[in-house]
Amino acid sequence: MSANKLNIEGIMLFEQPFARVPYENYRKVFRASQKNIEKELTAVQTAANDIAKRAKSGSSSSEDAVNALDSMITRVETLKRKLADLQSSSGASTIGVMRERFKHLSSVEGMQASSDPEFARWADTRLDRWLVDWSLRNGKEKTAKMIADERRIERLVDIELFSDIRRIEDALKQRSCTEALTWCSENKSALRKVKNTLEFDLRLQEYIELARVGKNLEAIAYSKKHLLPWQESHLPQIRQASALLCFPPSTTCSPYKRLYDLSRWNTLIQSFRLAIYNLSTLSSEPLLHLAMYAGLASLKLPACYDPQTKNVDCPVCDPSLGKLAEEVPFSHHVNSTIVCRITGKIMNEDNMPMAFPNSGQVYSREALEDMAARNDGIVKDPKTGETCEFSALRRLFIS
Ligand SMILES: [Zn+2]
Repeated sequence: MSANKLNIEGIMLFEQPFARVPYENYRKVFRASQKNIEKELTAVQTAANDIAKRAKSGSSSSEDAVNALDSMITRVETLKRKLADLQSSSGASTIGVMRERFKHLSSVEGMQASSDPEFARWADTRLDRWLVDWSLRNGKEKTAKMIADERRIERLVDIELFSDIRRIEDALKQRSCTEALTWCSENKSALRKVKNTLEFDLRLQEYIELARVGKNLEAIAYSKKHLLPWQESHLPQIRQASALLCFPPSTTCSPYKRLYDLSRWNTLIQSFRLAIYNLSTLSSEPLLHLAMYAGLASLKLPACYDPQTKNVDCPVCDPSLGKLAEEVPFSHHVNSTIVCRITGKIMNEDNMPMAFPNSGQVYSREALEDMAARNDGIVKDPKTGETCEFSALRRLFIS
């Protein structure tokens, strides 16, 4: 096995949402079709039973029967048109997206090594996808669209999903739960499967808003209709909500003060985002960050966080990437790669590490030779200020 053999399994670990998002979209098309079929066919069945019943009792004329049949035919024709519309408006394009994404994924399976130029191109596209993902998550939709358009990867990125997210979040920022509740009902069974209770939180918020403006009767009716169905799992919250009607929004009584707190809207936005990421198996952090964690963990050394020992060429020493690396563990290769703090180059038998006689500070031969050449053979330790002849330096051997 060659050292740079591709780790296909590792690559695929990142790709679950890539396949999942269009699948969820298609599931929605499928559900909508199914609902339409059920609704129209039930109506046709009822009409047919009705004709049969009336014919038996002799209470209908043949003209009535013909009219009833006509309306049944109209229903079925409408159904056919609706299904065709669904298929052409979103069904076909979603299938196209799925096909293209699977093609993109399966192409990497044929590649043998990371040195394969095909793989370099594939990884470039992947990086573009991650940049789009990062931009979308950070509200930079224009940038995302520009990258997607320029690199022709519109079908490989989830711009629509994120514009949905933005639309629903904007509504929540305007203190309206309507859009988010519609999303919940579209994804009811999937949310139930993962025991997500976003819908209850939204309902409770609508109730609180009724209480806030003193519409107590409406609040009670609302609670009966929308909160009580949750009593099996949320009875304490429902009880507390009932008591809320006795307290004005200006109350200082802490549980009720918390319910009236407007920061609940921000919590709802966060819960919504987590719920929609969860259903699409999207990580809560940008994929770009996750991919970088892996790389940063292999480079991170304690020295990266010491201003005295920062290395110009080390990504982790860079303040912004270092911030990202805060959460990742230190590299296990502390002793196997030694990097020169002056040049940022790896020290090995071709570029030996050399130590100052007193301070013991180690730098690469190249850096010290360069320094000596510019200073009449004298080298100076940038850390301690110790100076000596180049010839006085100790050579170190890497074992
Ligand atoms: Zn570093």
